[in-house]
Amino acid sequence: MLDAVVVGAGLSGLVAARRLRAAGQTVRVLEAADTAGGRMRRRRLDCGVTVDLGGQWGGDTHTRFEALVNALDLERFRSFYDGEGLFRWRGEARQARLGADFDDTLLFFEPGDLPLSAGERAEARAVEQRFRQLVEQVDPDEPWRSPDAVALDTITASAWLQGLGASAAAQLPLQWLGRVGGSGGFELHQVSMLHLAWTQAVAPQREAPEGWLLRGGAGQVAERLAADLGPDLHTGCPVVAIAQDDGGAEVTTDDGHRHRCRSVVVAMPPNQRQRLRFDPPLPPDQIALHQRWPMGAMVKVLAVYERAFWRDDGGNGLTLGERAWLELTADSSPPEAEPGVLAGFIAADRALAFGTMNPAEQRACLLAELESLWGPRAGRPIELIWHDWGSEPWTGGAFTAFPLPGTWTTLGDAWRRPHGRVVWAGTEVARRWPGYFEGAIRAGEAAAEAVLVRQGRSMRR
Ligand SMILES: Cc1cc2nc3c(=O)[nH]c(=O)nc-3n(C[C@H](O)[C@H](O)[C@H](O)COP(=O)(O)OP(=O)(O)OC[C@H]3O[C@@H](n4cnc5c(N)ncnc54)[C@H](O)[C@@H]3O)c2cc1C
Repeated sequence: MLDAVVVGAGLSGLVAARRLRAAGQTVRVLEAADTAGGRMRRRRLDCGVTVDLGGQWGGDTHTRFEALVNALDLERFRSFYDGEGLFRWRGEARQARLGADFDDTLLFFEPGDLPLSAGERAEARAVEQRFRQLVEQVDPDEPWRSPDAVALDTITASAWLQGLGASAAAQLPLQWLGRVGGSGGFELHQVSMLHLAWTQAVAPQREAPEGWLLRGGAGQVAERLAADLGPDLHTGCPVVAIAQDDGGAEVTTDDGHRHRCRSVVVAMPPNQRQRLRFDPPLPPDQIALHQRWPMGAMVKVLAVYERAFWRDDGGNGLTLGERAWLELTADSSPPEAEPGVLAGFIAADRALAFGTMNPAEQRACLLAELESLWGPRAGRPIELIWHDWGSEPWTGGAFTAFPLPGTWTTLGDAWRRPHGRVVWAGTEVARRWPGYFEGAIRAGEAAAEAVLVRQGRSMRR
């Protein structure tokens, strides 16, 4: 009998397995897809450049991710934010300076540089301050115990903004946080104010989560961890059932194979857990939680150029504001600026609309938008690819999952509660940096610790 089976070889499951093995445990990792990595995956393009289809950045306070990258001896470099970004508003695209302190900016930009009236700037600032007060009052560990939790969990973030009579400019920062900044992939009418505030309490944009990149791509991290597992990693093995009794647990894959173990770490996105048959069944609150915790919608776009030409004109590749499709573009080139890589994101409802078009239409939309932002050269990339995470069968969306309004305050207790021998991992159960690599690592480490405690062993054995 194995000590533990880990279900899912994304970063969280891989880290859990690494920890358990380091403590002397026998571990098997079962992964549904043909390769490990989940949302941490890179691809070598036809032009020879390697890009991340999933996550790519680490942040200044992503201490566990930094430690892991260092342990794997991978090279990090600072993201490029020198020079000016581009803010588009009411048909006008304006280059503008970035501010040093996120809290003093309007979405990273010096407010005075933006094509907004003094009144609009003041109102946007007032709304942000009201939001920040809420963020400060949220209980990061148990958001459902925050002051006014029920009221905040039953009003959507868009209704909250409407209640303040917020103008379009004043709504933009929070809309952006929902779609791409912080947790990503949802519109403000889909989440409660409690959830939006919680995302910034536990994963604050002000801590610069897009601070550094990995030479060769973040996907290498998962590749290295998977290689270390050797034959203990089984890919192409979707788990369909988990049964347990006093003697142990039995994890069944879709080919009928049964894996006996003492403990199970389930490191899958919450929506995917609904595909598993549990015996004994999950309690009703946990079933309901999984139903009310959908994934965000996200398309990642990567445009590759000979060099990061926008830097030559004092630009840093960052784009925000009004746009047809791209919520954000960001310079993801190596320090030497060759090749030039712009990463872009189509998020939430726009991602769903984008997914209904055929590839030729999608390509035409992206080229037109890139050109409208960074000029004619931007419309002529060496290579342009996009990856719709909604079409990933074992993930079903990105960046992460978001609870529907009312879920935190009715079902919060079920969030991290183990089910007998089953403990939950995955970035969605992290208390700090959920939705990020950092959260995936912390959740994986915590799950491994829970298994070891359960089995009465010390991590330092
Ligand atoms: C486009 C995009 C951009 C992002 N940008 C960033 C970024 O810049 N920085 C950052 O920190 N984070 C970023 N993220 C988020 C980050 O990638 C994730 O938080 C992290 O990779 C999640 O890891 P995980 O192990 O929790 O989940 P996953 O990576 O989703 O792993 C879960 C695994 O479970 C497997 N699985 C599912 N069902 C089964 C089953 N039945 N049986 C067996 N296996 C199963 C899946 O195939 C998958 O491999 C981004 C994500 C995306 C998609």
